[in-house]
Amino acid sequence: MADTRPGSGVFVPAPLSLPAAGPRATRSLHARGLPLASAEVQIATVDAVDLSASPHEGDFSRALSASGWEALRPGPVEIFQINLGKLCNMTCRHCHVDAGPDRTEETMDRATAEACLRALDRTGAHTVDLTGGAPELNPNFRFLVDEAAARGKHVIDRCNLTILLVPGLRDLPAWLGERGVEVVCSLPHWRKRGTDAQRGDGTYEKSLEALRLLNEAGYGSGDPRRRLTLVSNPVGAFLPANQPATEREWKEGLRREHDLAFDRLIFLNNMPISRYLEWLESSGNLETYLQLLVASFNPATVAGLMCRSTLSIGCDGRVYDCDFNQMLDLPTVQASGGTFHVRDLDVEALRSRSIVTRRHCFGCTAGAGSSCGGALD
Ligand code: SF4
Ligand code: SF4
Repeated sequence: MADTRPGSGVFVPAPLSLPAAGPRATRSLHARGLPLASAEVQIATVDAVDLSASPHEGDFSRALSASGWEALRPGPVEIFQINLGKLCNMTCRHCHVDAGPDRTEETMDRATAEACLRALDRTGAHTVDLTGGAPELNPNFRFLVDEAAARGKHVIDRCNLTILLVPGLRDLPAWLGERGVEVVCSLPHWRKRGTDAQRGDGTYEKSLEALRLLNEAGYGSGDPRRRLTLVSNPVGAFLPANQPATEREWKEGLRREHDLAFDRLIFLNNMPISRYLEWLESSGNLETYLQLLVASFNPATVAGLMCRSTLSIGCDGRVYDCDFNQMLDLPTVQASGGTFHVRDLDVEALRSRSIVTRRHCFGCTAGAGSSCGGALD
């Protein structure tokens, strides 16, 4: 079953027609009615861990200050990230968005998408980064891609791969390629075990099929207008492995065993929020993982933190310093107090703010660092 939503000009699958996730997939915290679905409870859970024996007692502001940063201040907005909603065809165990097929309420409407474009024009950002959930499920996805590409912006689609197999979206690889969109695809591991463990049984085979569609559309061949980036999160409570060596291994493995190609591999640290936080708690790893993040604080990552150059817009138009703060309901705060909304974004006021930080920020500064673009150091 598919519906055609007004204004999209595109067939978009109705949420209930989304394929069921595999047996190892979970359900959203929201669908299970768990206290941890609340951002406030997530922040309190992380804050409650005793890190008094860790450097700076696990206080991110103190770690910053000891590195010579009295406050985290933004530079010019370079990346305009738009979160189109929490609806997703998958329910991965590590999801920091708590996305899933049940999240039909949180979706960006056309008026907010248009307000995003007006705000984009005022910021001078060179890149538009579309994320979700599965951003492709939003009826305004193609509208935003077209409008951003027409403005000469570099456009990124944060894609979970399996969405490209959903009826009505199988034309996306060619469609995105025609517009020069970089596709940044999540894949926990190039081998089956790690991928299915994190994303549900059957995800690996679907991911390979989606990669094949992308390769057939010219992605992964070194063409800068068809850039195919893979993103991996560790499957467990540890930091990512060495990037250049691992990228070589992935490229050789996927080529040798499946005749598939991609352009680059980036790694993200798992953030102690939402469903990954649930897993840390239930597996007894929360304290040791937080200790690891705090002990691995790397001052060299601070200058490049994504919150210094990225603006994150929620599906209701509220403005955040990053996608993680968005999920923790920590909006960007003006120097004069108050928050921002995309429909009346004051770019000057943005520049004079301090970025909102909490303990989860150690996830971005641990080891080689982590951002939507991968390592920082
Ligand atoms: S991690 Fe990505 S693909 Fe998985 S449920 Fe979350 S938004 Fe969907
Ligand atoms: S979570 Fe990371 S990107 Fe977000 S405010 Fe903290 S340090 Fe910055």
